[in-house]
Amino acid sequence: MEKIKREIDTKLIHAGEPDPLILGAVSIPIFQSSTFEYAGQESYHDLRYIRLNNTPNHVALHEKLAALENGEASVVSGSGMAAISTTLLTLLSSGDHFLAQDCLYGGTHDLITKDLPAYGISHDFICGDDPDHWRRLVRPNTKAIYVESITNPLMQVVDLKAVVNFAREQQLCSIIDNTFTSPINFRPLELGFDLSLHSCSKYLNGHSDIVAGAVIGGNELITKITHKLNHLGGTLDPHACFLLHRGMKTLGVRVRHQNSSALQIAQFLESRSEVETVHYPGLASHPQHHRAKELFDGFGGMLSFELKGDVALAQRFIQNTTLPICAPSLGGVESLITRPVTTSHACLSPEECKEVGISESLIRLSVGLEATKDILADFEQALSG
Ligand code: PLP
Repeated sequence: MEKIKREIDTKLIHAGEPDPLILGAVSIPIFQSSTFEYAGQESYHDLRYIRLNNTPNHVALHEKLAALENGEASVVSGSGMAAISTTLLTLLSSGDHFLAQDCLYGGTHDLITKDLPAYGISHDFICGDDPDHWRRLVRPNTKAIYVESITNPLMQVVDLKAVVNFAREQQLCSIIDNTFTSPINFRPLELGFDLSLHSCSKYLNGHSDIVAGAVIGGNELITKITHKLNHLGGTLDPHACFLLHRGMKTLGVRVRHQNSSALQIAQFLESRSEVETVHYPGLASHPQHHRAKELFDGFGGMLSFELKGDVALAQRFIQNTTLPICAPSLGGVESLITRPVTTSHACLSPEECKEVGISESLIRLSVGLEATKDILADFEQALSG
């Protein structure tokens, strides 16, 4: 009988698992073999070889990831940036143009502004909420629109429904980086996006011990992206596949704790006189709170804020905290705290940061799985220190 796998928590455990189990192993073994015996395959891309992303560890992950976001197919890659760059290079060639949200993860922003122009791929940045403005920027050679579900690091929520409708109207491929929300809080293909991208280094793996990426979408697009990835070579090693597979099984319990803890921390910060602004879509004061409430099942574990004071004060606050580790990246079991201008957005110039509203003293927090009470106590002492 077919297993009943309707809910996301059941899919996390049972989707894509070998059936029957391999020698009864409850946890999928690591197939640490670069190549596999020839079995009469007719296509290059069907030969079993780690770079071709089709070892049993890859196949299991592809099925699990596709099931989580109700996509037809998915492909994993050696990093989130490998997923992003390979997707854009699959969809866009020399002479093409695309639209991208103005505030994005620094690496993506840099790829768009510094690398893609060298391949003849041009872009225009769009602000989140003005389809009329987007329409004016469309050219005959515009092929795609690219956004993030919750932007890094200002936690803005663009009008995602408008993006999907606009892409359909203009016949553009709609692409979303769903890293910050994770499939627990948002499944973009259900809204009508063509492709959902992840840095699996973050929530999906959840333990800050690998880098990995994924693209989820329809069969045709994923086949094209897989073939490009096979040539560019940004594959995920089977051992990293295994770690990602293991990490994903606890995604639901982790993200729901992080949703709840981040909301309490955001509310605490908002209530403090030392704090100037808090960016968290779960707060009623967030400009796109109603939109986030309508679109998402949870508001996520990321928040950013500014204290009343200069960079030195922000730096002192970070130094005064005892629990969060001052490090880039996010989505792991341990809380991480940084100033984005020194980490995730260090590749943007001061002018570019200013343009998109990222100040030098902005502090970003990735909430981990520590007891919320302990983080609140730590922040309390750090604010008064
Ligand atoms: N997308 C977002 C939203 C990110 O924050 C990051 C990294 O921080 C990436 C993509 C890139 O992922 P990776 O570091 O796995 O290449």
